[in-house]
Amino acid sequence: MEPSIERIRAGEKGAVAQALNFVEDIRPAMRADIERFLARLEESARRAQVVGITGPPGVGKSSLTSALIRELRQRGVSVGVVAVDPSSKRSGGALLGDRARIRYDVSDQGVFIRSMAAGEQLGGLARASQAAVQVMAAAFDLVIVETVGVGQSETDIEDIADTVLFVVQPGSGDTLQFLKAGVMEIPDILVINKADQEKLARRAYLDLKGSLTYKEVAEGDWHPVIVRTSAVQGTGFDELADAIGAHGQWLEKRGRAAHRRLKAQRWALATFTRLAGELGIEEAGGRKRLLRLLEESEAATHRQCLGLLLDQRSAG
Ligand code: GDP
Repeated sequence: MEPSIERIRAGEKGAVAQALNFVEDIRPAMRADIERFLARLEESARRAQVVGITGPPGVGKSSLTSALIRELRQRGVSVGVVAVDPSSKRSGGALLGDRARIRYDVSDQGVFIRSMAAGEQLGGLARASQAAVQVMAAAFDLVIVETVGVGQSETDIEDIADTVLFVVQPGSGDTLQFLKAGVMEIPDILVINKADQEKLARRAYLDLKGSLTYKEVAEGDWHPVIVRTSAVQGTGFDELADAIGAHGQWLEKRGRAAHRRLKAQRWALATFTRLAGELGIEEAGGRKRLLRLLEESEAATHRQCLGLLLDQRSAG
């Protein structure tokens, strides 16, 4: 049965859970129904700011997410979380291994957490996580997508989230080097967690700040923000929530829909390439043709963009 959009919009947890089960159904026979439902949801619902949290294993992403949720709840902001674990290929379930799970008050009606296994990022799952984000974005004020920043998921999150938050810990030279060398795209917000290690955190902060000031930021563009947090001491979360809010406001001013559509197109092309390979791209008429097709289409969401590309393949 199709989930009730009204109840989802009201943020009813039961309706959200039902909708997530509905859109995660990977049976081909369900696809048309799911797309229809998502299109209706898209038309009739608000869309929350989507915040991606990524970073190497062990820097404290789940601890930090827990603390951020607390801060947001104190501000009266409802939060939906999609926690993606790329290491859980082995089993069907979302295995969180040794990572501390995200902690929250289960009786709180304003928080909803869904764990997902990224598995091998087969088309079905990539689409499922995208759909989950869309459902959550209709139900809550803010959506967090949390994933371990290894390989694919890192670039994925840049294209999925409106606001990208990258977490490092003091003394983790490699990541800082990556950032400075421009290997990685500069995230919107850089978080130095474990700032209770004061000396190291201060050095990491100055180091990063120094390197970021050399990067040119065009007028009107977002200036990346560096925030220090300690998930154990619970410090820095006020500032972090402010930075997220500021980025959200900047996006609104910039035109969030256009920003999101560009990201959706980029994500769809990357996901299609992963699924079909370079050969598949050629068979579908080449990257340039596909991009043009996306630009000229009505496709606005991640799923719609990917669907359009997949249709090219079956048509060709
Ligand atoms: P994740 O793998 O990035 O999700 O990291 P976790 O949240 O599981 O944390 C990894 C380890 O770092 C755990 O042992 C946490 O207790 C610890 N940790 C997390 N945040 C902090 C912090 O702010 N300060 C300190 N000292 N330890 C932290």
